[in-house]
Amino acid sequence: MESEVKKISPSVFAIIGPEGSTNFTIIKTRPDTGVLIDADIRRIDEIEEALRLTGCSKIEYLIDTHEHFDHTSANFYFAQRGIPIIASAGCRGAMGGQGGPDFERMMKPVPELYERFPGLCLTLPNVQFNESTKVTLPGVTLHLEYRAENGHSHSKGDTTIYFEEEEILIAGDLLYTEVHPVTFFGNIPNWLSSLKTLFDSHYKQLVPGHGPSVDGEQRGRAYFRKMHDYLEDFYGHLLEVKAGRESSDELAQHMLSGSYRDLGKTRMVQRNVNQFLTGRWF
Ligand SMILES: [Zn+2]
Repeated sequence: MESEVKKISPSVFAIIGPEGSTNFTIIKTRPDTGVLIDADIRRIDEIEEALRLTGCSKIEYLIDTHEHFDHTSANFYFAQRGIPIIASAGCRGAMGGQGGPDFERMMKPVPELYERFPGLCLTLPNVQFNESTKVTLPGVTLHLEYRAENGHSHSKGDTTIYFEEEEILIAGDLLYTEVHPVTFFGNIPNWLSSLKTLFDSHYKQLVPGHGPSVDGEQRGRAYFRKMHDYLEDFYGHLLEVKAGRESSDELAQHMLSGSYRDLGKTRMVQRNVNQFLTGRWF
């Protein structure tokens, strides 16, 4: 399966990852220039191809929505080209903390990338903000908003980006559409609070961290609610399993049935359950 470069507004191209893998976004700011949001070194050829297709031979900024490897591992590649990388202080802090070991662990299956990109390593963003910031370019205003409730929702860096002129909201991994989310790096109660603040947000198009983009605020709101209800349901059952009133198999079964039956990336369900029960518990 190949990723799809989807034009969602005059200047915005979403690289929708196949089968719920990570989405990246290109915002074209000038005829040959763009801003890139998130980049995974394992998929750098796809990203380069999308930049070529959209006519963005130069990149003004790379923005990291949060610290996870699939969103930040190409920081090194773009930093080498002198491109400034923007992220929340929460994202930068998380990368500085646990980022090194996580990076090495995620690189284990793809050691050839160390040969292809000599010196490849965890590379921290070099422009950081605390609560919110604005990136202003001719005709392009990007509002970056830090959304990790008490410093930790899906991740410690969760940032949304709103492109004012074309009314596009990029939600990062606070939102997954049509696929099971990765929950085990997160704090689910805080994540629920973050989602509530997004119920009434405004946009014409919505880009999640994983899964298809969403047309219109009404459909977007339904997806934010679905995400919220999924996490609330999952968390409630986790507490039951933790208390010994339900088995982990029953919980996994529940998350794969009913209204969740058609969600993709089903392998995430067992991983989400196991990770919570074997240590990671926030
Ligand atoms: Zn993530």
